[in-house]
Amino acid sequence: MKALVIEEFGGPEVIHLAELADLEPAPGEVRVRVSTVVVGRTKDIATRAGRPPFAEQVPGFPHVLGSEHAGVVDAVGPGADPALIGRRVAVSAVLSCGNCRACQDRREEACSSFGLIGVHRQGSYAHSCVAPQSNVSLLPDDVPFAQAAALAGNGPVARAQLDAGHVGRGSNVLV
Ligand SMILES: [Zn+2]
Repeated sequence: MKALVIEEFGGPEVIHLAELADLEPAPGEVRVRVSTVVVGRTKDIATRAGRPPFAEQVPGFPHVLGSEHAGVVDAVGPGADPALIGRRVAVSAVLSCGNCRACQDRREEACSSFGLIGVHRQGSYAHSCVAPQSNVSLLPDDVPFAQAAALAGNGPVARAQLDAGHVGRGSNVLV
């Protein structure tokens, strides 16, 4: 598959097109044919530049950046739902155990297994990206991929803030 890789940290010029082996989803994972990718300041741009908080956690080079994304599922690994094949999805970048107290409180950033697609494992600046099935949300047909990818990136932040503020139906929020 074609992918945009970095083999060193630096400016935008370190990103280059490369041919990588096709990805096969592991147990519990799905493979998404990527349509749209979020470019974030912290996860993508700072990491590419070799800056904290995530650059030192990149496992090695060549590395594929790219966190939240949207596209169409085209393969599933053992134990993942084959009915997802052909479905339009948005993919969250946050990797966590899903079971610990922090995860159950929706504070995945505090999970001891915390990681990010595009930082701790290969990301979505590529023709395909694999992710845990639990990171995938089905999209209604009328939600464009660009909106879906943006929501996958920023929606959980907004949701966490609303939860932390105990905001509910009928509340007034000043933004
Ligand atoms: Zn956890």
